[in-house]
Amino acid sequence: MAGGAELRRLEMYIDGTWRAAASGRWFETRDPCTDRPWALLPRADAEDVAAAVEAAHAAFTSGPWPAMSASDRGLLLYRIADLIAANAEHLADLEVRDNGKLMLEMLGQMRYLPRWFQYYGGLADKIEGSVTPIDKPGLFHYVVHEPVGVVGAITPWNSPLLLTVWKIAPALAAGNTIVVKPSEFASASMLGLARLFEQAGVPKGVLNVVTGFGEEAGKAIVDHPLVRRIAFTGSDAGGAKIAEAAARDFKRVSLELGGKSANIIFADADIDAAANGVISGIFAAAGQTCMAGSRLLVHASVHDAVVERILTRMKQVKIGDPRDPATEMGPVATEPQLRKVLHYIDVAKAEGARCVLGGTRSLRAGCESGYFVEPTVFVDVTNDMRIAQEEVFGPVLSVIRFETDEEAIRLANDSRYGLAAAIWTSDMARALHMPKRLHAGTVWVNAYRVVSYLAPFGGVKASGIGRENGAAAIMEYLEPKSVFINPTPAVRNPFTLG
Ligand code: NAD
Repeated sequence: MAGGAELRRLEMYIDGTWRAAASGRWFETRDPCTDRPWALLPRADAEDVAAAVEAAHAAFTSGPWPAMSASDRGLLLYRIADLIAANAEHLADLEVRDNGKLMLEMLGQMRYLPRWFQYYGGLADKIEGSVTPIDKPGLFHYVVHEPVGVVGAITPWNSPLLLTVWKIAPALAAGNTIVVKPSEFASASMLGLARLFEQAGVPKGVLNVVTGFGEEAGKAIVDHPLVRRIAFTGSDAGGAKIAEAAARDFKRVSLELGGKSANIIFADADIDAAANGVISGIFAAAGQTCMAGSRLLVHASVHDAVVERILTRMKQVKIGDPRDPATEMGPVATEPQLRKVLHYIDVAKAEGARCVLGGTRSLRAGCESGYFVEPTVFVDVTNDMRIAQEEVFGPVLSVIRFETDEEAIRLANDSRYGLAAAIWTSDMARALHMPKRLHAGTVWVNAYRVVSYLAPFGGVKASGIGRENGAAAIMEYLEPKSVFINPTPAVRNPFTLG
């Protein structure tokens, strides 16, 4: 482990204590701006995961957590919200070091995180059961919603805390306990958040964080029999493995996976706003968002005007250190990701797409040693090309022309993914009718990349199963229980259905 000796060691959080891995192994986390490691993390394996899951199970079944009223649980989540607000800069700094996204963006995300704890904290004591009329004379029936138990949360590197909080806040509000495995590329901020849980006085074992690799620590969480629900965000390849493993033990899963989202510009759109929306959809966060608008479907009559606006703006883009407030695009987050993006650029060129911007690693001053990619635009793309069908997860836009509304819908839906889509139009009829024809979990009209704790988020097809955010998301962490009470028992025929 080159240079490892001088690096800071960040311990993981299990059962209310800060620990190294039982094996004593560590791994490096790197700064994508410099390609240098900046800290060491415990490399958890099945033994550490078992300790974390057992701690979570013990905290779920006994001690202060199950005894706490739902209202008090809510108050505890409010306290966490306050602590996050007070520590937003620190958390953002940890995220930027790990994934190289703009400080401006990560700070915005950190300042938004408290809302999840406030919203689900507020919901904690509003989960009502119901007394339902029942068709059995003399019987009384009610439904209660009970926490599922130990939740395993497995998350990616692109928006590490945001995507993890989407799981932690509803899971804990519902009364569960949780074991989190953040991405091996971006774990530091989750450890920073765990410190705030400790400070808030969350009972030990309620939140546990294990750091390590997917096939090792992640797999051990999914395989552990005491884990009853998996909340996963990541690639569709990872999601498929997790769904398969979870099925063996009939664990409930939610999967938030990849996308190849269509940003559709009609001839009647406000072209300046639309071009700006395309830039925000694919070049913000250097394209590393699940909802990236990586396919631009543009009406032939405005194709050249839209492309020209995108090129003019992106030729001026400031690439560099994500901590510099003037920077508009940082690096991609990891070395494998850099290789993947450059590979897809080669694939697109070989397929006959025409590169009209970028198409290379960025070697601008200050970018030489980091994982920087020039913003890249391909025109003359057809929807059957790999560059139009496969998720690149980088600053690479594929531009596809269309002539009619029907063609736009057909192209947009001709994808194995279905996470998000946007349409740009000034026609009210299109704005109202198009969303229902698009196969996507989120549709924006004259907007892009808007998410909220109030709005369900998730995908259809290969983009996933289940929804996060919104009031319904808390139900994903609860099991309904039917209770039948017979106040006047009597002897009856025991061989028929009651
Ligand atoms: P990834 O699938 O490689 O890893 C995600 C997490 O899963 C990591 O913590 C990893 O260690 C773990 N993991 C991997 N294999 C595992 C296994 N077999 N068992 C258990 N855990 C395993 O994804 P990534 O590269 O970190 O993230 C990028 C992907 O995430 C992209 O495809 C992106 O679209 C997707 N994403 C989706 C959303 C959404 O909400 N739909 C949001 C952000 C990112």
